[in-house]
Amino acid sequence: MNTQLFERIWLAFFPRRCVWCMGVTAPADMLCPDCAEEAQASRYNNAEGIIACFTYHSRASRVLLRLKFEGKRNLAHSIAYAMGDALREAELDGADLLFCAVPMTAAQVKKRGYNQSELLAKSAARWLSCEHATLLRKARETEVQHDLPAPQRAQNVAGAYAVTAPEQVAGRRVVLCDDICTTGATMQACAHMLEQAGAAQVIKLAFLRTEVQAKKTNGEEEHETEFSAKKANGG
Ligand SMILES: [Zn+2]
Repeated sequence: MNTQLFERIWLAFFPRRCVWCMGVTAPADMLCPDCAEEAQASRYNNAEGIIACFTYHSRASRVLLRLKFEGKRNLAHSIAYAMGDALREAELDGADLLFCAVPMTAAQVKKRGYNQSELLAKSAARWLSCEHATLLRKARETEVQHDLPAPQRAQNVAGAYAVTAPEQVAGRRVVLCDDICTTGATMQACAHMLEQAGAAQVIKLAFLRTEVQAKKTNGEEEHETEFSAKKANGG
Protein backbone atom coordinates (compact mmCIF):
# COMPACT_ATOMS: atom_id res chain seq x y z
CA MET A 1 0.00 0.00 0.00
CA ASN A 2 1.48 3.39 -0.86
CA THR A 3 2.16 5.81 1.95
CA GLN A 4 -0.33 8.46 0.88
CA LEU A 5 -3.19 5.99 0.70
CA PHE A 6 -2.23 4.59 4.08
CA GLU A 7 -2.16 8.10 5.56
CA ARG A 8 -5.62 8.86 4.17
CA ILE A 9 -7.11 5.69 5.64
CA TRP A 10 -5.39 6.31 8.96
CA LEU A 11 -6.72 9.87 9.08
CA ALA A 12 -10.25 8.64 8.35
CA PHE A 13 -10.11 6.69 11.60
CA PHE A 14 -8.16 9.24 13.59
CA PRO A 15 -8.77 12.73 12.17
CA ARG A 16 -6.00 15.14 12.78
CA ARG A 17 -6.64 17.74 15.46
CA CYS A 18 -4.89 21.04 15.98
CA VAL A 19 -2.42 20.49 18.83
CA TRP A 20 -3.14 24.02 20.04
CA CYS A 21 -6.97 24.21 20.22
CA MET A 22 -7.94 20.57 19.48
CA GLY A 23 -10.11 21.67 16.53
CA VAL A 24 -10.07 19.49 13.42
CA THR A 25 -7.35 20.58 11.03
CA ALA A 26 -6.10 19.76 7.52
CA PRO A 27 -4.39 16.35 7.12
CA ALA A 28 -0.99 17.94 6.47
CA ASP A 29 -1.11 20.54 9.26
CA MET A 30 -0.33 20.23 12.96
CA LEU A 31 -2.19 23.50 13.61
CA CYS A 32 -5.43 25.00 12.34
CA PRO A 33 -5.13 28.32 10.42
CA ASP A 34 -6.46 30.26 13.44
CA CYS A 35 -3.71 28.95 15.71
CA ALA A 36 -0.82 28.77 13.26
CA GLU A 37 0.33 32.35 13.76
CA GLU A 38 -0.04 32.42 17.54
CA ALA A 39 1.73 29.08 17.87
CA GLN A 40 4.69 30.06 15.73
CA ALA A 41 6.48 31.78 18.61
CA SER A 42 6.28 28.58 20.66
CA ARG A 43 7.77 26.24 18.08
CA TYR A 44 10.80 24.58 19.55
CA ASN A 45 14.10 25.21 17.82
CA ASN A 46 15.83 21.87 17.95
CA ALA A 47 18.90 22.04 20.16
CA GLU A 48 21.10 19.76 22.22
CA GLY A 49 20.22 16.85 19.96
CA ILE A 50 16.55 16.89 20.93
CA ILE A 51 13.77 17.22 18.36
CA ALA A 52 10.54 18.66 19.77
CA CYS A 53 7.40 20.39 18.52
CA PHE A 54 6.73 23.11 21.08
CA THR A 55 8.02 24.68 24.25
CA TYR A 56 6.36 23.49 27.43
CA HIS A 57 4.93 26.87 28.35
CA SER A 58 2.57 26.95 25.41
CA ARG A 59 -1.05 26.02 24.75
CA ALA A 60 0.13 22.72 23.32
CA SER A 61 0.71 21.55 26.91
CA ARG A 62 -3.07 21.55 27.48
CA VAL A 63 -3.56 18.89 24.82
CA LEU A 64 -0.91 16.78 26.49
CA LEU A 65 -2.48 17.24 29.93
CA ARG A 66 -5.78 15.93 28.54
CA LEU A 67 -4.02 12.87 27.17
CA LYS A 68 -2.16 12.24 30.42
CA PHE A 69 -4.71 13.05 33.08
CA GLU A 70 -8.15 12.96 31.45
CA GLY A 71 -7.81 9.64 29.66
CA LYS A 72 -8.16 11.19 26.18
CA ARG A 73 -6.11 8.48 24.51
CA ASN A 74 -7.19 9.41 20.98
CA LEU A 75 -5.34 12.72 21.30
CA ALA A 76 -2.16 10.65 21.13
CA HIS A 77 -2.64 10.38 17.36
CA SER A 78 -2.69 14.12 16.72
CA ILE A 79 0.30 14.65 19.00
CA ALA A 80 2.13 11.79 17.28
CA TYR A 81 1.37 13.27 13.83
CA ALA A 82 2.96 16.52 15.02
CA MET A 83 6.01 14.64 16.34
CA GLY A 84 6.34 12.85 13.01
CA ASP A 85 6.21 16.20 11.23
CA ALA A 86 8.97 17.54 13.48
CA LEU A 87 11.11 14.54 12.55
CA ARG A 88 10.44 15.14 8.85
CA GLU A 89 11.27 18.83 9.23
CA ALA A 90 14.58 17.86 10.83
CA GLU A 91 15.12 15.54 7.82
CA LEU A 92 15.68 12.57 10.10
CA ASP A 93 12.73 10.47 8.92
CA GLY A 94 13.18 7.22 7.03
CA ALA A 95 11.55 3.83 6.61
CA ASP A 96 14.38 2.16 8.54
CA LEU A 97 13.56 3.86 11.84
CA LEU A 98 12.54 1.86 14.89
CA PHE A 99 10.34 3.76 17.35
CA CYS A 100 10.33 3.17 21.10
CA ALA A 101 9.28 5.13 24.17
CA VAL A 102 10.73 6.28 27.45
CA PRO A 103 9.18 3.69 29.79
CA MET A 104 7.25 4.11 33.03
CA THR A 105 7.44 1.61 35.87
CA ALA A 106 4.85 -1.19 35.89
CA ALA A 107 3.22 0.49 38.90
CA GLN A 108 2.94 3.81 37.06
CA VAL A 109 1.40 2.14 33.99
CA LYS A 110 -1.09 0.28 36.18
CA LYS A 111 -2.14 3.51 37.87
CA ARG A 112 -2.71 5.48 34.64
CA GLY A 113 -3.77 2.55 32.48
CA TYR A 114 -1.26 3.41 29.77
CA ASN A 115 2.10 4.97 29.11
CA GLN A 116 1.29 8.04 27.02
CA SER A 117 4.80 8.08 25.52
CA GLU A 118 4.28 4.49 24.32
CA LEU A 119 1.03 5.55 22.63
CA LEU A 120 2.90 8.42 20.97
CA ALA A 121 5.75 6.16 19.80
CA LYS A 122 3.30 3.60 18.37
CA SER A 123 1.18 6.16 16.57
CA ALA A 124 4.18 8.13 15.22
CA ALA A 125 5.64 4.87 13.89
CA ARG A 126 2.39 3.99 12.11
CA TRP A 127 2.12 7.53 10.75
CA LEU A 128 5.61 7.33 9.22
CA SER A 129 5.21 3.66 8.19
CA CYS A 130 7.99 2.55 10.52
CA GLU A 131 8.39 -0.19 13.10
CA HIS A 132 7.60 0.19 16.78
CA ALA A 133 8.83 -1.96 19.64
CA THR A 134 8.95 -1.85 23.41
CA LEU A 135 12.69 -1.79 23.96
CA LEU A 136 13.13 -0.33 27.44
CA ARG A 137 11.85 -0.93 30.91
CA LYS A 138 12.02 1.25 33.99
CA ALA A 139 13.14 -0.83 36.91
CA ARG A 140 12.57 1.61 39.73
CA GLU A 141 10.81 4.87 40.56
CA THR A 142 12.77 8.09 40.20
CA GLU A 143 12.15 11.55 41.65
CA VAL A 144 10.42 14.05 39.35
CA GLN A 145 13.37 15.51 37.45
CA HIS A 146 12.40 19.19 37.47
CA ASP A 147 12.08 19.14 41.28
CA LEU A 148 15.75 18.28 41.64
CA PRO A 149 18.83 20.49 41.53
CA ALA A 150 20.72 19.98 38.25
CA PRO A 151 23.68 18.00 39.64
CA GLN A 152 21.36 15.36 41.11
CA ARG A 153 19.34 14.69 37.96
CA ALA A 154 21.73 12.34 36.21
CA GLN A 155 22.26 10.49 39.48
CA ASN A 156 18.49 10.20 39.94
CA VAL A 157 18.00 8.32 36.66
CA ALA A 158 21.27 6.36 36.59
CA GLY A 159 20.58 2.64 36.43
CA ALA A 160 16.80 3.13 36.38
CA TYR A 161 16.41 2.04 32.74
CA ALA A 162 17.26 -1.24 31.03
CA VAL A 163 17.00 -2.53 27.46
CA THR A 164 14.60 -5.48 27.30
CA ALA A 165 15.30 -6.62 23.74
CA PRO A 166 18.96 -5.91 22.82
CA GLU A 167 18.72 -8.21 19.77
CA GLN A 168 16.14 -5.84 18.27
CA VAL A 169 18.29 -2.76 18.91
CA ALA A 170 21.63 -3.79 17.40
CA GLY A 171 22.51 -1.82 14.28
CA ARG A 172 19.20 0.08 14.18
CA ARG A 173 18.40 3.78 13.98
CA VAL A 174 16.15 4.16 17.00
CA VAL A 175 13.73 7.02 17.69
CA LEU A 176 13.28 7.45 21.41
CA CYS A 177 9.94 9.15 22.13
CA ASP A 178 8.85 11.05 25.23
CA ASP A 179 5.89 13.33 25.83
CA ILE A 180 7.89 16.04 27.60
CA CYS A 181 11.62 16.48 27.77
CA THR A 182 12.60 18.57 30.79
CA THR A 183 16.29 18.46 31.65
CA GLY A 184 17.11 15.84 29.03
CA ALA A 185 18.68 13.59 31.68
CA THR A 186 15.98 10.89 31.37
CA MET A 187 16.25 10.73 27.59
CA GLN A 188 20.03 10.74 27.86
CA ALA A 189 19.95 7.81 30.31
CA CYS A 190 17.65 5.82 27.98
CA ALA A 191 19.69 6.73 24.88
CA HIS A 192 22.84 5.61 26.64
CA MET A 193 21.34 2.18 27.32
CA LEU A 194 20.20 1.84 23.68
CA GLU A 195 23.65 2.81 22.44
CA GLN A 196 25.23 0.27 24.75
CA ALA A 197 22.90 -2.35 23.24
CA GLY A 198 24.35 -1.51 19.82
CA ALA A 199 21.95 1.06 18.33
CA ALA A 200 23.52 2.69 15.28
CA GLN A 201 21.89 6.02 16.19
CA VAL A 202 19.41 7.25 18.79
CA ILE A 203 17.17 10.16 17.80
CA LYS A 204 15.47 11.87 20.74
CA LEU A 205 11.96 13.03 19.91
CA ALA A 206 9.59 14.80 22.32
CA PHE A 207 6.31 16.66 21.90
CA LEU A 208 7.25 19.40 24.37
CA ARG A 209 10.57 20.65 25.56
CA THR A 210 10.84 22.65 28.75
CA GLU A 211 13.37 24.66 30.73
CA VAL A 212 16.13 25.58 28.27
CA GLN A 213 13.85 27.11 25.67
CA ALA A 214 11.10 28.13 28.06
CA LYS A 215 13.42 30.57 29.82
CA LYS A 216 14.79 32.01 26.61
CA THR A 217 13.46 35.49 27.34
CA ASN A 218 16.07 35.82 30.08
CA GLY A 219 19.50 35.56 28.48
CA GLU A 220 21.51 34.93 31.63
CA GLU A 221 19.12 32.37 33.02
CA GLU A 222 19.05 30.58 29.70
CA HIS A 223 22.80 30.27 29.72
CA GLU A 224 22.88 28.95 33.25
CA THR A 225 20.07 26.49 32.61
CA GLU A 226 21.63 25.22 29.44
CA PHE A 227 24.89 24.73 31.28
CA SER A 228 23.19 22.89 34.15
CA ALA A 229 21.29 20.66 31.74
CA LYS A 230 24.51 19.77 29.93
CA LYS A 231 26.20 18.98 33.19
CA ALA A 232 23.31 16.76 34.21
CA ASN A 233 23.62 14.98 30.90
CA GLY A 234 27.26 14.39 31.54
CA GLY A 235 28.19 16.67 28.61
ZN1 LIG B 1 -6.22 25.49 16.46
